[in-house]
Amino acid sequence: MKKTPAEEPVVSNFIRSIINEDNRAGKWKGRVETRFPPEPNGYLHIGHAKSICLNFGIAEEYQGICHLRFDDTNPEKEAQEYVDAICDNVRWLGFDWGKHLYYSSDYFDQLYMFAEHLITLGRAYVDSQSAEEIRERRGTLTQPGQDSPYRERPVAENLDLFRRMKAGEFPEGAHVLRAKIDMASPNLNLRDPVIYRIRHVHHQRTGNKWCIYPMYDYTHCISDALEKITHSLCTLEFEDHRPLYDWVLDQLNNQLHCHPQQIEFARLNLTYTVMSKRKLIELVDQKLVDGWDDPRLSTIAGVRRRGYTPRSIRMFAERIGVSKADSWIDINVLEDCLREDLNENAPRRIAILKPLKLIIDNYPDDQEEDCHAPNHPQKPEWDKRTVPFSKIIYIEQDDFMENPVKGFFRLAPDTEVRLRYAYIVKCVRIEKDAQGDITAVHCTYDPDTKSGTDGANKRKVKGNIHWLSAQHAQHIEIRLYDRLFTDPYPDISGKDYKTSLNPDSKTTIHAYAEPKLYEAEPEQCFQFERNGYFVADKLASQPGRPVFNRAVTLRDTWAKQSNS
Ligand code: ATP
Ligand code: MG
Repeated sequence: MKKTPAEEPVVSNFIRSIINEDNRAGKWKGRVETRFPPEPNGYLHIGHAKSICLNFGIAEEYQGICHLRFDDTNPEKEAQEYVDAICDNVRWLGFDWGKHLYYSSDYFDQLYMFAEHLITLGRAYVDSQSAEEIRERRGTLTQPGQDSPYRERPVAENLDLFRRMKAGEFPEGAHVLRAKIDMASPNLNLRDPVIYRIRHVHHQRTGNKWCIYPMYDYTHCISDALEKITHSLCTLEFEDHRPLYDWVLDQLNNQLHCHPQQIEFARLNLTYTVMSKRKLIELVDQKLVDGWDDPRLSTIAGVRRRGYTPRSIRMFAERIGVSKADSWIDINVLEDCLREDLNENAPRRIAILKPLKLIIDNYPDDQEEDCHAPNHPQKPEWDKRTVPFSKIIYIEQDDFMENPVKGFFRLAPDTEVRLRYAYIVKCVRIEKDAQGDITAVHCTYDPDTKSGTDGANKRKVKGNIHWLSAQHAQHIEIRLYDRLFTDPYPDISGKDYKTSLNPDSKTTIHAYAEPKLYEAEPEQCFQFERNGYFVADKLASQPGRPVFNRAVTLRDTWAKQSNS
């Protein structure tokens, strides 16, 4: 079976079916050309990642090409910072647009020329109503709109006015250019949509050359046609715009000689997440999160810092597939993709998140020895690493219970556990402070039971816990991230999404790690045995002073946590 970059078996979907049918019928002579068309007015999120994987993935699969096109027709809201971040995100996900990097603003001259052509054909006119008057005459879903008093302006007058709009003779809002379609159309998008408006603003690429800017619906279809896109994939909210997309291209058929097919798919909605740019901007601006790349955010920069890998996201995109109906994807599906990737690809290490001191009474005071722990339990070729052992070690507080509940097989008074990769120890005594809290447990060890020796199987014990030699353990900072929202549908619960922010979504702790973790490079991922998957923070971490983010727990622990 054919494999995608994420090595998932390819499951067919309606987009693949359309392309297969086009190829069979020879519609595009086997050519497949797609594009990812972000507006550079914010950072990309995981929903965009779905679209990137789909557009670039489909092109790759059919030996086609995918363009990266910045839809930069709204200069007030757009910035180079976003352009750079978007390029970086797409590359990080593992895709390459090669030489096919475009900007809608590259086409401003042609778009203008085509607009004059529409005027000449009698298919566009300059309307001098105010925005409010246009809105009032637009009608409703049940009532047709009314024609503008300027609708029958002669071609020459339209041309003259449009040229003067371009020349900067009028203030903003004085005139707009509208397509002349049908004010009675049941589709509101066809009621003489505005295709150009006056904006006396600087554009980050074209400078002050233009003071009229084309609207999205007019720009997008022409850009697609100029780039000879074959399949223009977009989200479902554009379904009602398709007749306009087709109308514009039909009028300009003699100029463009290319009519891409717009195909809509359902956008990604993910539980416990908000995804609209407006809300992401609000979270950042109101400092409810620590910037655009906060590891709790659904931005691509955020999930990357959280520890998500490109492979896990591509796997996710393939797994959720594409459909024609809006639905919600459980965030577990995303988390499981990361678990799956890191379970296979992350080296194992030991860290103690909540330390409890354990003293081995019968182990010589100044002795230390090496234990050997596999870097990956299923990959002997990854070899073993050395973990030092000595008289005083740390274990997790949770691995000890003074009064063990039924079914607790770890350490308790008078019971035995195996210290993973080392010896069997037995708890003989506990130390407490004045408040009655346990400060240390005392054990004896059985020197004949070291892992990897003949004595390892001398007797079976049920518990098997991780530990670190206290004198060798290194201090590390760990950020335990959790879901940003407590409500699975923060966006649509009928209340302000900010009221369901999870107050415990970030906890910083100081923990201990085995010496080898000290060398961690930023963005390296590990499984901390029994504690989850962690990544060395992209910005805060450096070899010698590591800071880790918890990407995901080993299993989905959310259900349990939210009930407690
Ligand atoms: P938002 O609505 O989240 O603010 P947008 O649609 O305005 O985003 P664009 O920059 O226009 O952002 O999006 C670029 C492409 O990504 C578009 O083709 C759009 O359809 C697609 N896209 C945006 N959000 C999602 C999503 N949640 N799932 C899938 N594709 C998406
Ligand atoms: Mg958009």
